[in-house]
Amino acid sequence: MISIAKPLVDETEANLVLEVLRSGVLASGSYVERFEKEFATYVGVGTAAAASNGTTALHAALEAVGVGAEDEVITTPFTFIATANSILYCNARPVFVDIDSLTYNLCPSKVRMVLKKRPNIKAIMLVHLYGLPCDMDEYMAIGKEYGVKIIEDCAQAHGAKYKGKVVGSFGDSAAFSFYPTKNMTTAEGGMVVSKYEDVIAKAKVLINHGQKQRYYHEVLGYNYRMTNIHAAIGLAQLAKLENFNARRRAIAGRYNEAFAGLNFARTPYIPEDCEHVYHQYTLLLERDRDGFVNYLSQNQIGYGIHYPIPLNQQPVYKERGYGNEVCPNAEETAKRVISIPVHPGLTDAEVDYVIEKITRYQS
Ligand SMILES: *Cc1c(COP(=O)(O)O)cnc(C)c1O
Repeated sequence: MISIAKPLVDETEANLVLEVLRSGVLASGSYVERFEKEFATYVGVGTAAAASNGTTALHAALEAVGVGAEDEVITTPFTFIATANSILYCNARPVFVDIDSLTYNLCPSKVRMVLKKRPNIKAIMLVHLYGLPCDMDEYMAIGKEYGVKIIEDCAQAHGAKYKGKVVGSFGDSAAFSFYPTKNMTTAEGGMVVSKYEDVIAKAKVLINHGQKQRYYHEVLGYNYRMTNIHAAIGLAQLAKLENFNARRRAIAGRYNEAFAGLNFARTPYIPEDCEHVYHQYTLLLERDRDGFVNYLSQNQIGYGIHYPIPLNQQPVYKERGYGNEVCPNAEETAKRVISIPVHPGLTDAEVDYVIEKITRYQS
């Protein structure tokens, strides 16, 4: 079986984790501080705040820019649920706007139409889905024009670039996830980044029980801290990220070439200014996804459906009055996408095998 995702760890991670265990400083500590510094440098911002996972990082990223009770936050329904849930955790309300049918990212022109009608929008939560950056020039202009905050969900886009600049460095704040399936991992872990130092200072306070000074609690905070153990894994992984991404891009390049002429599937669309990092390599099928799924399973090729149901149609959101939004692109795309293995652990022989099987498929 060729798996859809596989974390790559070796002696480097093991040795750093051992160092932490032997140091006796298991929770917060110098490895976390180093990881924050190195990650901020990688993204091209001044500072960063490590968190326990991507979801808590998103929550802190929102609260740190001032999203709170009753605020409305525009986001995409075609993403992992944590994106929208983090808005609910702020007691704010997600406003779901449709995606672009080519990029699968939140559609800027549709966002503009909503902003014209709804003056209470506080922020826009973007997702660089599958590792493809959103149209950041357009969103930065929208942010200025309407006075709304821009938050980037970079959980799938470590190192992805828009016009040569790494994502996470554009918005008012951004959050990354280091779950084992992502482009780099810390087991569980997350990071808040921002070009604004005061935003990171606020995020750090939120992540650590609302305290700057021990036992003096200024605001309602949380225990969202990253541990030294996880940061040690992160330091080793960050050093490998460029290689991991290069391998993902090389495999995707081979798929793009091999699958360009297929009549039953469309390869990923990449706008000119974007450097995709292929957290997922996702095909859009013309018909019969179930048939294709069966074929992959029979041939021992792992796959993923990211995502089968738009968030506004999920029970947890229907229960909260959602479900009647007009998001035809998200609905159509959810029925037709399928992701195939693209992780850096794949061997050339496995990539050849996947290409051979898929190009021979008769739909
Ligand atoms: C993985 C992911 C998250 C959440 O990250 P966790 O570390 O699993 O909490 C949020 N948003 C998106 C788009 C993701 O893919």
